[in-house]
Amino acid sequence: IYILGIESSCDDTSAAVICNGKVLSNVIANQEVHAQYGGVVPELASRAHQQNIVPVVQQALHQANITKNDLSAIAFTKGPGLMGSLLVGTSFAKSLALGLQIPLIDVNHMQAHILAHFIDNETPKPPFPFICLTISGGHTQIVKITDYFSMEILGETIDDAVGEAFDKSAKILGLPYPGGPLIDKYAQLGNPKAFPFSKPQVADLNFSFSGLKTAILYFLQKEQQKNQNFISENLNDICASIQFTIIEILMDKLKKAVKQTGIKHIAIAGGVSANSEIRKSLQNAEKHLGWKTYIPKFEYTTDNAAMIAITGYLKFLNNNYADISTAVKARLKVTE
Ligand code: ATP
Ligand code: FE
Repeated sequence: IYILGIESSCDDTSAAVICNGKVLSNVIANQEVHAQYGGVVPELASRAHQQNIVPVVQQALHQANITKNDLSAIAFTKGPGLMGSLLVGTSFAKSLALGLQIPLIDVNHMQAHILAHFIDNETPKPPFPFICLTISGGHTQIVKITDYFSMEILGETIDDAVGEAFDKSAKILGLPYPGGPLIDKYAQLGNPKAFPFSKPQVADLNFSFSGLKTAILYFLQKEQQKNQNFISENLNDICASIQFTIIEILMDKLKKAVKQTGIKHIAIAGGVSANSEIRKSLQNAEKHLGWKTYIPKFEYTTDNAAMIAITGYLKFLNNNYADISTAVKARLKVTE
């Protein structure tokens, strides 16, 4: 069974082919136009998707060594994401499925981030039930997964997502967008205890990151009044301290979730799971808390079509198809 996955929810155009759960190709076209604006510009994103979609799909088929006539079904991201961006991938998927007369499968992008763990590759698959900490540019959630399409949100952010916390902190430091990976890089050379930032008090398993950003801003303004070069002279320590605080907030809630559910199989998903400190903390928890942790391969953490294709494959096995009239949804919960 060959599934073509198409992802266009934000600023990456991606197409992937999987065969019975194994990835044959996973082509991603990044959009560079946004860097100069310090964030994604929706209108420019949809235009770039229009330019990229045909060559990206062609390359995915070519790398998989198949033609479009070999495809069993086409899976596409229905939401959540930018409306204009979603429309490009969705319209393309619909026309191709219609032309080839094969099933069309709609995929929830947030479910796909989690179900990327079920791609057949060398990383072990989590057994049900497991807990997934989804940490991306737009989401921060603790989800309990009892079956492929049976999920429950145990907690989530009440304001900024963790990726935003990284990117906004980086912006305050004068680093280019997206700054998350740069904070990670500088943090490796710094002292995480150099500048303590207080952690927010949020009830249950929910998160809040907007206060941290403000605390960092005020702290830097105060220090810069004393020393104009404070940021450049202390960049590594500042980054290490910010990262340490963010990861502690995540780990505190994860520990709470484990206590509450008794589930010790812990997965992470989303772009921030590339972060070296969260990876280290999870490895520590394996050693000291008896958790079993599941960390996806880097290429399946940020937006990619392989995760859309695997989710489509799992739906295909259940004959769970979409109607040609299916509409995109800018807002869509992981449980929908
Ligand atoms: P969503 O899926 O919620 O719509 P998204 O798909 O746009 O959001 P991702 O692509 O999963 O988000 O993740 C992008 C985020 O990950 C950015 O905020 C980026 O800064 C962050 N990120 C990537 N690598 C790292 C890293 N090593 N450390 C910290 N943050 C990182
Ligand atoms: Fe995403």
